[in-house]
Amino acid sequence: MKKRNIAILGSTGSIGTSTLEVIKKKRSKFNIELLTANNNYKKLIEQAKIFKPNNVLINNKKHYKKVKKGLKNKKIKIYFGNVPLNNIISNKLDYTMSAIVGVAGLQPTIEAIKISKIVAIANKESIICGWEILSKFIKRYKTKVLPVDSEHFSIMELTKGISDSEIEEIIITASGGPFLNIPNKKLNRIKPNQAINHPNWKMGKKISVDSANLMNKVFEVIEASKIFKFNKKKYRIIIHPESYVHSIVRFKNGLIKMILYNTDMKIPISNTLYGKRNHILNIKKIDSKVLSKLSFQNVNSNQFPSIKLVNKCLNLGFLAPTIVNASNEVLVNLFLTKKIGFLDIVRTINKIFKDKDFNKYAKRKPDTIKDIQIADNWARLKTLTMCVR
Ligand code: NDP
Repeated sequence: MKKRNIAILGSTGSIGTSTLEVIKKKRSKFNIELLTANNNYKKLIEQAKIFKPNNVLINNKKHYKKVKKGLKNKKIKIYFGNVPLNNIISNKLDYTMSAIVGVAGLQPTIEAIKISKIVAIANKESIICGWEILSKFIKRYKTKVLPVDSEHFSIMELTKGISDSEIEEIIITASGGPFLNIPNKKLNRIKPNQAINHPNWKMGKKISVDSANLMNKVFEVIEASKIFKFNKKKYRIIIHPESYVHSIVRFKNGLIKMILYNTDMKIPISNTLYGKRNHILNIKKIDSKVLSKLSFQNVNSNQFPSIKLVNKCLNLGFLAPTIVNASNEVLVNLFLTKKIGFLDIVRTINKIFKDKDFNKYAKRKPDTIKDIQIADNWARLKTLTMCVR
């Protein structure tokens, strides 16, 4: 059988590494065209030696020579910076995993859509900020796009062939993160290593902080409202500390369906890769005793004030999600480098909404990447000036 041509954007990250682990089980079935990273040249070199891709790209130019040295005598082409993917890859790809973190993933995702039959999107920021633009390319290039985020992957599975009129409610679950039972007012002295220590998932630092204050759920509802054609008022978030149930759909005919699986991103990843013929091995089975201990609770907005941003973003639409995303990216970095406290993240995003220029930037239709960049740049600068005085 013909090998499948694939690319992994952000191969050195948590999702990228899991994707390679899934591929490793059936390595002979794949021809890896491209692996990419930003700074982690050591891991990129290590992955290239093991997986023998035809091309690697390191985004940060300062590491180019190190990658070149590390892979000398190997038949691998090495690129740096924002090289368009179609300059690197000439054959149509069968599958691309879009797993760069942040809005930096938007342009590469657009390029992947142009040259791939299937694009699995983990990079939620490109959906939140650029779905209107992605959709145009998805249509034009007839690309199949599959969400990787566990909640969206589950909603997709639960609603195949279902219309909006059949659905009462779509519930996205949240674990509540590491601070579920710590009163909100005690959280300002939280250290970055406490915030990234998620009880159930092992993820990149940015998404781990987003999970600790539930900003991740704000983004997930926006993400779902973009990907799926269902009424955006039907989404609800509930806390499910065990994280086995990823999404729940309540139908008007009285049925409730939910999808459960272990907290292992290799499960949605391998499903996007293999579809119905998915026979991934060695996935830990859910112990039946666990099923008697599943618990659910409403989200307390005093504990997680971020949750009020969901409606603000959905009601405003346009570039409001881009502004919140950009501001959040800056704030998470400031928090991780100990320049602001944990609670300052959501506090500052709320201040951005009240800024006199907010409406000017938020209430525009995002038609081009430039439109997104203008709102994104404004939000980043505004956030920095608010925090670093
Ligand atoms: P990581 O931080 O672990 O990895 C991010 C990847 O993107 C790395 O390969 C990194 O390279 C690369 N990267 C970072 N910045 C840039 C840039 N400016 N240009 C090019 N490449 C860049 O993130 P995750 O794997 O956790 O998350 C990836 C995406 O998937 C995010 O959007 C996240 O929200 C989403 N997601 C993640 C889940 C998870 O379980 N981890 C679950 C669901 C969604 P380098 O290593 O060199 O820095």
